[in-house]
Amino acid sequence: MTAFKRLFTALLLLSISIASLVSCDLGAHTAPERKSRVTYDYFDTVATLYSFSGDSDEEFGANFAAFEAELSTCHELFDIYNEYDNLNNAATVNKNAGISPVKVDKRLIDLLLFSKEMYEKTDGAVNVAMGAVLEIWHSYREARTGVPTKEELKAASEHCDINKVIIDKPASTVYLSDPEMSLDLGALAKGFAIDLAADVLRSRGADSYAIDVGGNLFAIGAKPDGAAFKTGIEDPDGGDYPAYVDVRDGSVATSGDYQRFYTVDGVRYHHIINPVTLYPATLHRSVSVYSSSAAVSDALSTALFNLDRASGEALIREAFPEVREVIYVGTYGVMRFTA
Ligand code: ADP
Ligand code: MG
Repeated sequence: MTAFKRLFTALLLLSISIASLVSCDLGAHTAPERKSRVTYDYFDTVATLYSFSGDSDEEFGANFAAFEAELSTCHELFDIYNEYDNLNNAATVNKNAGISPVKVDKRLIDLLLFSKEMYEKTDGAVNVAMGAVLEIWHSYREARTGVPTKEELKAASEHCDINKVIIDKPASTVYLSDPEMSLDLGALAKGFAIDLAADVLRSRGADSYAIDVGGNLFAIGAKPDGAAFKTGIEDPDGGDYPAYVDVRDGSVATSGDYQRFYTVDGVRYHHIINPVTLYPATLHRSVSVYSSSAAVSDALSTALFNLDRASGEALIREAFPEVREVIYVGTYGVMRFTA
């Protein structure tokens, strides 16, 4: 990424963060003192920690440091683009596809076991083994021109079999048994990291805290007066919030076609790829999921973006008791259901 692009992204994300910060504040009639701190170093996005608890500056500072340390570790472990000194991460696993198993931290093993479970439960709508297809889209998006051919995508899709992600839990190793395959953890890495960071904060006694990583929100507890954290669902076209969600002890994640895309001949090609068509999914503008887990919300917002509303709702009711609410935004308007 060029320095200019980085600056532009940072400014854009800052404005998004301010928008969600404002929405976070809604409903605070007995506005307690709120503290917040921001970092731009992880998951290519802005991360903010909020405390509504009345913690001292020292307590909040120490909690922020612990939060940031966990986020940093997860960022490095789940990174598919860069390797780091003295660390085996997702990029190391990808580099060793067809060569050898790689010993990795338990967090990455757990993330991959979770990813396999989500693949099974969503019938493949979210597939972290789709790297071969996603990297084609990634390079076209970076070049901002052209569209991959069906043949090109079809050939890559032969190398997306999640059953070839071989996990040896006792040995803590991962092996990609197809040399042409690769992991892409973008659909759920942020959510998974948020759950781990929230665990760290909880174990330190944090309550009445909120975490925002690139628009994925997690509330630890509620506001001190018992009120929920109210968060706005973004309008894909940049207008007023079309819906709000009351969040307590849980997480809201959104997948949308307006977040990362490029345009060719007036057609928008965004970053959520339907594993069946191998092209960007076109059923919705955005899907937001509110559940008790940030990892589940993140994985499912991506999965549901690929499924029609009836199938999505049936899937949630059948297999995901931890989901509380789903909000769809599309050409059909705003539709939501409570699970
Ligand atoms: P964001 O990263 O903007 O929060 P998502 O959580 O929806 O949005 O994740 C989108 C990312 O997930 C893409 O950038 C890509 O890396 C990956 N991805 C896209 N489509 C799929 C899919 N069908 N299954 C698994 N991962 C996907
Ligand atoms: Mg997601």
